[in-house]
Amino acid sequence: ATQATWTAVDEYYQDLYVKEDAILDAASETAAAAGLPPISVSPTQGKFLNLLCKIVQARRVLEIGTLAGYSTIWLARALPDDQASKVVTLENNQVHARVAQRNIDHAGLSDRVDIKVGPALDILPTIAKEEGHKPFDVIFIDADKVNNKHYYEWALTLARPGSVIVMDNVVRDGKVLETDPTKQDPSTQGIREFNDAVARDPRVSATALQTVGVKGYDGFALLLVN
Ligand code: SAM
Repeated sequence: ATQATWTAVDEYYQDLYVKEDAILDAASETAAAAGLPPISVSPTQGKFLNLLCKIVQARRVLEIGTLAGYSTIWLARALPDDQASKVVTLENNQVHARVAQRNIDHAGLSDRVDIKVGPALDILPTIAKEEGHKPFDVIFIDADKVNNKHYYEWALTLARPGSVIVMDNVVRDGKVLETDPTKQDPSTQGIREFNDAVARDPRVSATALQTVGVKGYDGFALLLVN
């Protein structure tokens, strides 16, 4: 099968199961109009994240890499409607964060989403130091891939046994197979460093799934904290 087939099948399942709504459509349109890159998760992937949060009955979700808040909306919608429900999402780019805040306000999720603006590696230690901070049930890592290993370590610090960590874009058209460091781009290096850390880490059980669809050929890693 080719990209055209992957796209067509993805759209078939999107129409059938996901039924993207006006709020999510508007979030994507606002992002495009503001000139943000089209690198959010797809609708079927967004629904996957949403279902995953519901399956584990998540109340606290951490996202690293907000962009326009498209995945954030999917995550936030999965949480029960109460005070304890919170998505904390980290975004380095002020323009992205502003667009995301508008999209989240428009989605009626402002009470449930906390966008923190700045380099994630600066913000994560402050979250860990917050008094009485509660662990996150689901952690979705989707930012600058060069820092994946560090995000992974922080995710473990901020998790509890039973927490789920999702690392996006771990296949990248097969680029992950490049073993020669001089030929790896920085993102591939970041993914392979993360993979090596996970592989020898007794604190997690992990798998990775390849995906095809509207976003091409990629995949994600799924980790359960032991
Ligand atoms: N999760 C979003 C979605 O699916 O809708 C897409 C996130 S996009 C792939 C990655 C985002 O990470 C970009 O908005 C980028 O500005 C942000 N980012 C890059 N480096 C970062 C850093 N060091 N700290 C926080 N955010 C960063």
